[in-house]
Amino acid sequence: MSIFEHEAPTHPALAEFRGGFDAVDGVPLSTLEVDELNEFLIEAYRAQQQIKGLLAKVVHEAINQQLAKRHGEHSLSVHIAGQVHGNSKRVASELAFARWLHRFPELHAALIAGDVTVAHLNELRQLENKHPKASPHMERAQDFFVDAAAKLQFPQWVDSVGYWFKALDPDGKLNDPKDPKYGTVVTELPSGDVLVQMRMDTITGEAFLIAVEHEEKKITDAEADLEPDEKLSPKQRTQTAIMLLIVRGFQKEDGTFPEPLVQLVMSTKVAEDLLARALGCIDPDTNGPMDFDPFELPINYDDLDGRCETIRGKPVHPMHALIPLLISKMRRLVIDEYNQATEEPDHVPEFRFFNKKQRQVLLALARGKCGIAGCNNPYAWLQMDHIHPHSRGGQTLLPNGKPLCQPHNKAKGDRI
Ligand SMILES: [Zn+2]
Repeated sequence: MSIFEHEAPTHPALAEFRGGFDAVDGVPLSTLEVDELNEFLIEAYRAQQQIKGLLAKVVHEAINQQLAKRHGEHSLSVHIAGQVHGNSKRVASELAFARWLHRFPELHAALIAGDVTVAHLNELRQLENKHPKASPHMERAQDFFVDAAAKLQFPQWVDSVGYWFKALDPDGKLNDPKDPKYGTVVTELPSGDVLVQMRMDTITGEAFLIAVEHEEKKITDAEADLEPDEKLSPKQRTQTAIMLLIVRGFQKEDGTFPEPLVQLVMSTKVAEDLLARALGCIDPDTNGPMDFDPFELPINYDDLDGRCETIRGKPVHPMHALIPLLISKMRRLVIDEYNQATEEPDHVPEFRFFNKKQRQVLLALARGKCGIAGCNNPYAWLQMDHIHPHSRGGQTLLPNGKPLCQPHNKAKGDRI
């Protein structure tokens, strides 16, 4: 006997089940009429869903009888995973579903009968997760969920559950747009990734979705002739759509932007290293490509020559800056070892305001932070401050400038 074969089940019901399964599996599908094939397709899909209901039932009994313990295993998921060579984490999440389902006997029966799918139940499970107070109401509404699933296609079913949910909430408290649960949290991770978590009330969400879906549609249309693997994934498409909407919001009427949306600061040393890597320079000693150690990128937070970051001081991996380096507008800022930038020769220090180049240098030096220690105000609030006030004769030269956020700049006023 091959190790890949499983022992035949001994219980007559299971033996019959296995026999039926093997009989279906033994049918040569290519001999089927189209209608028959369709029947196989739908039955196999339905059976797959029903089996999950059956599994939940067995799991619950196994929990009741402390089956894992009796097999000397502390958890049922590890016990199952061990027997089927499965992933215990995955099994654990399936068991969590089984435990949840047990609380809703009518839904459970409907899954086994093939009247609802796992997707329906996952939707309800999520709803309960986000609104634990809905729990007791859900137990009473099981019949409604099942009936609606029989009558409606899935998206309409979701809407009908939404109606049911709102009806439970006469004063609108659960979906109150003023509820603090609504809003957007933007987190910058040390890796430089930006995590955006948004939760919107129904009406705000509608406005958001309509705009994003329109934009996604345009992207999809533009991708029509591309091969499947060249198209954006759904996640990427949504993100691209949101970015296009945001960028358009910044655009001036003539189609230009008030300033570049992305400004990268890269030292000459990093840029040269990057180009050498990207172009695979020939090593004069070996005549082969240069051997680069991936752990020895010449980037370093503390080293002016090791900078590769956004104007806000967020580190950027040089490889990710390669395309911008090749296609974007470059401005050379010369900064000496005293962290001072070299002034343009024609600059007149009596000018009231710092010019664009000076602003860029000062922002690059300040790494996009307000000059007041510990201030965390956003980059967009930064203004150029004359350290020695202009009104008292302070010159508009780089050593006399530093960015302060608007509140700190205002608070400082004309003081030194
Ligand atoms: Zn500040």
